[in-house]
Amino acid sequence: MDANDIATFNQAVQYAEHGYKEKAFECIKALAQKDGNNLDLILWGVYTAPNFERAQALLEKARSLNLGHPALVEADQWWTTEMLGLPHPVGGYALFPPNPQLTINSLTINQQTIIAPTLAPTQPVYYSQSFYQQTQPVYMAPPQVVINTVPAYACPYCRSPYPPLTGTRISTGGWVTFGILLVFFFPMCWLGLLFKTPYQYCGQCGARFS
Ligand SMILES: [Zn+2]
Repeated sequence: MDANDIATFNQAVQYAEHGYKEKAFECIKALAQKDGNNLDLILWGVYTAPNFERAQALLEKARSLNLGHPALVEADQWWTTEMLGLPHPVGGYALFPPNPQLTINSLTINQQTIIAPTLAPTQPVYYSQSFYQQTQPVYMAPPQVVINTVPAYACPYCRSPYPPLTGTRISTGGWVTFGILLVFFFPMCWLGLLFKTPYQYCGQCGARFS
């Protein structure tokens, strides 16, 4: 129950004291959605309920929660008197509706008792978790191995990794020209030797590839 809820409850008490029970009941109902099992709040619900049936249902709930609650006797008395349309005792009831301040206290205490058991186990759990994490080896993704999809070059004869060298040789056409000129006009036969063609060879073993 926070400051807003306390303000809501005080508002409900104000409404109830001034006879605006419907408005008071709306406030109590809103608070009950947060703490539906608070007996004092339920009794305030009985007190401000818009009809007898609603009041009776809330009384039943209060009984189921704590049959021995001292305010229940007076709440029953109040409800019966109200239903029969009889006058209430001149001095009112000591315990019904529950004292507003005590109701606020009970709401606050209820919240503390709800918080307290949840806080206690979380600490050891937290400790054991951190302890567990320390002993557990930290998983690290293995460094990604980049596989070169381009196959490394190797000479088919000597497996040399060095790329082939490019050289030039006299082309087949050049030799043919050389032969023809040698026969028919030998002073110009050297022209055939100028017809060059490139070829690749292994720098390691000298094997020719083209
Ligand atoms: Zn080679």
